[in-house]
Formats: sequence, C-alpha cells, structure tokens
Amino acid sequence: MPRKYPIEKIRDIGIIAHIDAGKTTVTERVLFYTGISHKIGETHDGQSVMDWMEQEKERGITITSAATTCFWAPYEKLKAGERKENEHRINIIDTPGHIDFTVEVQRSLRVLDGAVVIFDGVAGVEPQSETVWRQADKFNVPRICFINKLDRTGASFENSFQSILDKLSPSAVAMQIPIGVEDNLKGVIDLLNMNILKFEGELGEKMEEIDILDDKGEFSSEAKEEISQELFEQAEKWRSKMMEKIAGEDDTLLEKYLADEKISVSEAMEVLRKATIDYKLIPVFCGSALKNKGVQPLLDAVIHYLPSPIDLPPTKGINPKTEEKMERKASDEEPFSALAFKVATDPYVGTLTYFRVYSGTLQKGSYVLNVNNNQKERIGRILRMHSASREEVEELFTGDIAATVGLRGTTTGHTLSDENDPILLEKITFPEPVISIRIEPKTKADQEKMGLSLRKLSEEDPTFRIKSDEETGETIISGMGELHLDVLVDRMKREFNVEGNIGRPQVSYKETIVNEAKAEAKYVKQSGGRGQYGHVYLKVEPKERGKGFEFIDEIKGGTIPKEYIPAVRKGIKEAMDKGVFAGYPMVDMKVTLYDGSFHEVDSSEVAFKIAGSMALQDAAKKAKTILLEPMMKLEVIIPEKFFGDATGDLMSKRGKIEETKEREGLKIIDAKVPLSEMFGYATSLRSFTEGRGTFTMEFNSYEPVPDNIAQEIVEGKKH
Ligand code: GDP
Repeated sequence: MPRKYPIEKIRDIGIIAHIDAGKTTVTERVLFYTGISHKIGETHDGQSVMDWMEQEKERGITITSAATTCFWAPYEKLKAGERKENEHRINIIDTPGHIDFTVEVQRSLRVLDGAVVIFDGVAGVEPQSETVWRQADKFNVPRICFINKLDRTGASFENSFQSILDKLSPSAVAMQIPIGVEDNLKGVIDLLNMNILKFEGELGEKMEEIDILDDKGEFSSEAKEEISQELFEQAEKWRSKMMEKIAGEDDTLLEKYLADEKISVSEAMEVLRKATIDYKLIPVFCGSALKNKGVQPLLDAVIHYLPSPIDLPPTKGINPKTEEKMERKASDEEPFSALAFKVATDPYVGTLTYFRVYSGTLQKGSYVLNVNNNQKERIGRILRMHSASREEVEELFTGDIAATVGLRGTTTGHTLSDENDPILLEKITFPEPVISIRIEPKTKADQEKMGLSLRKLSEEDPTFRIKSDEETGETIISGMGELHLDVLVDRMKREFNVEGNIGRPQVSYKETIVNEAKAEAKYVKQSGGRGQYGHVYLKVEPKERGKGFEFIDEIKGGTIPKEYIPAVRKGIKEAMDKGVFAGYPMVDMKVTLYDGSFHEVDSSEVAFKIAGSMALQDAAKKAKTILLEPMMKLEVIIPEKFFGDATGDLMSKRGKIEETKEREGLKIIDAKVPLSEMFGYATSLRSFTEGRGTFTMEFNSYEPVPDNIAQEIVEGKKH
C-alpha cells in the first residue's frame, strides 16, 4: 500500500509549556479546528479530550504524553479554495508542564522534530518554561512560540516577548502583535503579510483577513476601521525588526534588505523556515486560546516553519554487533527502525507501546527485533491515536507515530528494528529518583496485587522504582518528587483497585568518599570440608559528582585468575549498594583492584566476592565516607509583604538565596534548598502567605550533607 501522506507533509511535534500556560486549551482548539473533535471541552469542566486519564482531569494537569494525530492545510490554501483534504498530517506528542514528570518531557523531546512552546501572556517566561526550554536545547529541537492568554488582565505581549529574548533566546522574532489586549483583544496582526486577522464565529472558526496596506502601500481604508494609526505605526516598526532578523540569516536577502529593496513574503518565509529548522531563529506568535484567537495561524506556522522528518539529519545509532556508528535516513526505503517512547496501560486494550518510526515501514503481523534485549516481538495490532479514539492501521511509514498492543519485553527507550539489519538508536537518559516512600497495602490480601500494579506502573515510567527493604521486607517506592509519587499511588488505587498506606517521604541520600585509600582483605576458611580462599588489595578514589562507579582491573601475572575478577567486582558493587556509613548507596568512586592471591584448591567465586566486599568496606571507611543529599532549585513567588517571612523560613531550612527579583508587587526568590527540609512546604507557604504564595521546585544536584546533620541521619533521628 502506498503512503497517503508524503513524508514532507508530516510534522511530528510537541506542545510544551509551563503548567497552566494553556497547553491543554491550545491542543483542544487545534483538535477542534483540524476537525477531529467537534465539541470544545474545557479543562476545568473535566471534559478535555487530551486529559483522558481520570487523574489528570481531577488535578487538571496532563501527566501522560499521549500522541494524537490531526490534519491541516495552511490557511492561504483554504482561502484560495485550493485545500486538498487532509493535506498535512500533524502528530502531536503531548508533554506535561510539571517538573515532577521530567521523564515525560525527556522522552517526548527525544522523538519530536519540532515544538510549539506556550507562554502565559501575564507571567511571560516562568521558571519551568526555562527548564523545559533548556531540555529542548539539549535535543536541538526547532521551535516556535505562542504567547497565550493575552485576554487576561495584566497581559502584555511586549513584556512577554522581552522575557523570551532576555531569558531564553535573543533569536526570538515576533511574527505577530495583538490588536488590543485584555478584554479588548480583537485579533492579531500578521506582520509578514501585513494583514489583520480576526476570528469570527462562536469558536473563532471563521478566520477573516484584512489587508493593512492598499495597492499603493498606504494604510488601507478598510484597515483604518479596525486599527488605530498608532497601532499601524507600531506594526510597521515590529515588521522592520522582523525583516531585519530574517534577512540576517541569508546573504541574498540581507543585500536586498540593506539596499531597501522589496523582500517578498515567500522569500522571507523560505529563509525563516530554514533558520527555524537550524534553530537560528524562533518565530513568536500570539493570541488567546480560550477566546479562540490566533490558533489557526499557529497551526499554519507549524506547517510553514517546523521540519518534516526529511528536513532533519539522519538518525544516529550503533550496530549492536560491532558497536560501529550507523545512520538511518528518514526514508521508507531504508530498513525499519523505531524508538519506543512510552508504555501505557490502557483500561481497554492492555499494554500500549507508543513508538516513532525513524526509517522504513512496518506491516501489521510482522516481526521486529528489540535491539536492547535481543528479543523478537510480533507486531499484532497497530493503532493510531486520535485523542480519545483510535484507528487501526495495516502499515506504518517513516515519520509515523503510533502504538502497538501486547509487546512483552519493550519499555521506554528501546529500539525496535528490522531483524536482518539491526541498529541501536540513541537511548533516552533519565534522572535518578530523589525521594522514597514506604508503602503497604491497606489489606494483607492485596500484597500480591500491590506488587503487580507497582511493577506495571514502573514499566511505564523509568523514574519510578520499586524495591523491598531487606530487613523489614517492606516495599519502598522512589520517584522524582512528592507529587510524582502521590499520582502513582493514586493511579494504583484507580486503575488497579489497590489501596496503599504510605509512610513519610524519605530523601534518597547517597554516600561517597572524600579521600583516596587502600585496603587488603583475605577471606579464608580452612577447617573441615571444602575450604575458602579469596585475597584482594583495592584502592578507592573519589570521582567527580555524577560520574558514577568505575572499576579498574590492574591484576598482572595472574595473581588473581581471570575467572574470579567478575566476582570481586560483584562483591565491591554489592557492598557499595548497601553503603558503609548509613546504609545508602555509594556513588562517584573509582575502585582499582591491584593485587591479591589465590589458592589452587580452596579459591572460589564466592570467596573472592566476599573478599571484594570486605576490602571495599574497609577502604571506604579509611577514605572517609560522607553523605550526599539532593539539593533542589526553588523559585518562590510571594506578595512583597511576606518577603521577610519567606526568606527567614528558607534560611532556617538551610536554603541559599541566590537571587531576588520583583514583578508587579510580587517578590520572586530563587534559592537552593535541601530536599529534606522541603516536605510539606506547599502547606506551610500557603499558611504564612494567606494562600497567596506559590513555588516551583526541581532537582538540581547532589551535595554533601553538613556533618552535624549527617550524624543525626546516621543515628536515625532524622530522615
Ligand atoms: P495547561 O496546564 O498548560 O494544560 O493549561 P490549561 O489549558 O489547562 O489552562 C489552564 C487554565 O488557563 C484553564 O483554566 C484555562 O481555561 C485557562 N486558559 C487557557 N488559555 C487561556 C487563554 O487564552 N486566556 C485565558 N484567560 N485563560 C486561558
């Protein structure tokens, strides 16, 4: 079967935003205008199309990144009556705005070709928009921006645009300005075409266009009825700034610009498209999704400026057998390769694995290789998700995003590939969890069910881990923040009908060493039966923060036979995982095995493993172990009068205040604080600011715990 949509007409995009900036509302408008959904349900009614999980509805936040397909033809074509039905296919990968769900952001960024970043027109760039922006930078995601909510009191296009320039990128270029603001927001001016865009009809579905300039290039009489002379002059100024930036990206255009020659709209668009894809310029649009203004031109911009799969460099990976670097071009002719970016448990169909096809085609019923675990998987059903509904398809092509049912060993980040020509695509890396909570089922009978449901949830989310406490047998779950774990415990109740009692959240401390040290350990048992003999010399050295564990084998001349070396390593690793100071895992150290001895008859793997573990414990103690704790980056926003209370409170929490700023009678405090001091902060901040303070917090780094506090932790007085 031939493909229905040429690859250059496909867009794989994500909509990313700070929570509450209006991502859900924009997405819903998009789905409405593209004809998929016919009713607009607003988030606060709990009716939204994208937020299909119960949870999300209740909390009003988007947790899972569902992929949704819709279709669009840019507006000029519509107007000229040339619209070919469903000309472009847009696959939207939803991403969450809450930082506790980094995993969702990361994995979606990994499979996107471009993004629409949404800002609240009152707040401008918010701390989390900054975080997500930097993450998108890491993946080189081309993007366009939308300044939303310009109908709100206090909204300002200029300030919001300026905050993008100041905080995110000087390459942002304003492509539109609003007509009016707050209650008077009437529409937008398209600076490139120099026309007024108005959105009529109950849901703004009828877009009307009025040329600002007449045939002679003067302020047209039609436009004069819509906008003031002053706004017209402002538009001309914005336009010339826009043209200057666009022309700066292309020599021919720059010459024309400098010579004051006319630059045509299509020329400018072509250069802007290339510059956006190369991440040299970032076009900025504006409007109000809630008031149905500006969404259609934003969709046009997705088509005009964001890349199709063939506009980007080939996908990189390695040959799993030879580990040589390989590439796959975005083409149906290449061998099949795809990346699984989400596993979800769907109440109706079971386990759904979402993946993006990077090359080749995939037929229903065929077999593919999971390159990460070397297992064959059969592709049973292929589903394309249209928001809440799904469509079964027979075949997928390069650039497609879809889901399949019933894969057994495939989890987020795995590569699926043509089994005859395998490639391992670049992995998605996830941060380590920072907090843990003990959890037990409300009724004993649920023990098994709880285990099963937690396992299922952790398969979906690589930043959610489960382990059992060796001493007490209790189950401990770990994740990226209190909200993250709350949501998961809640999902366990809703989706699996298991209720859990949870303990106090505990910080995931780590241990490390400060100095270098050496140790020797001999494990010998030679009385009766078969003896034991293992003997090792180790050196431990601290490594830079975040560099993990490194093992070096410097054994020469067979003082320890080769076959026992992995056992020594295993003993070392096990001792590190248990910790030597307060029972927390040891990180960031290099361990060198440099000497030892063995016994012809009595030596065994077990004996060497024990010797390795003993030597590590001894060496680590000599090298001075310390505790590391997660430090969080915090931003607190409070009315001026609570400033003293808020800073005092942060100081008492061992916080370091890094910067304070002001915004319209509000104070903004940037600080670093230990996670251990931050439990319950939401409640305490609310109470001392009379409910008016807000904050955001995200993981920053692991840093040493001060000695006196470390002592309390070791003694179990503090967690
Ligand atoms: P998300 O958290 O980014 O998905 O944001 P939502 O789309 O759920 O929007 C958060 C809140 O802002 C909801 O109450 C929306 O109705 C509201 N909202 C979204 N867009 C606009 C807008 O353009 N103007 C105004 N005034 N409110 C908006």
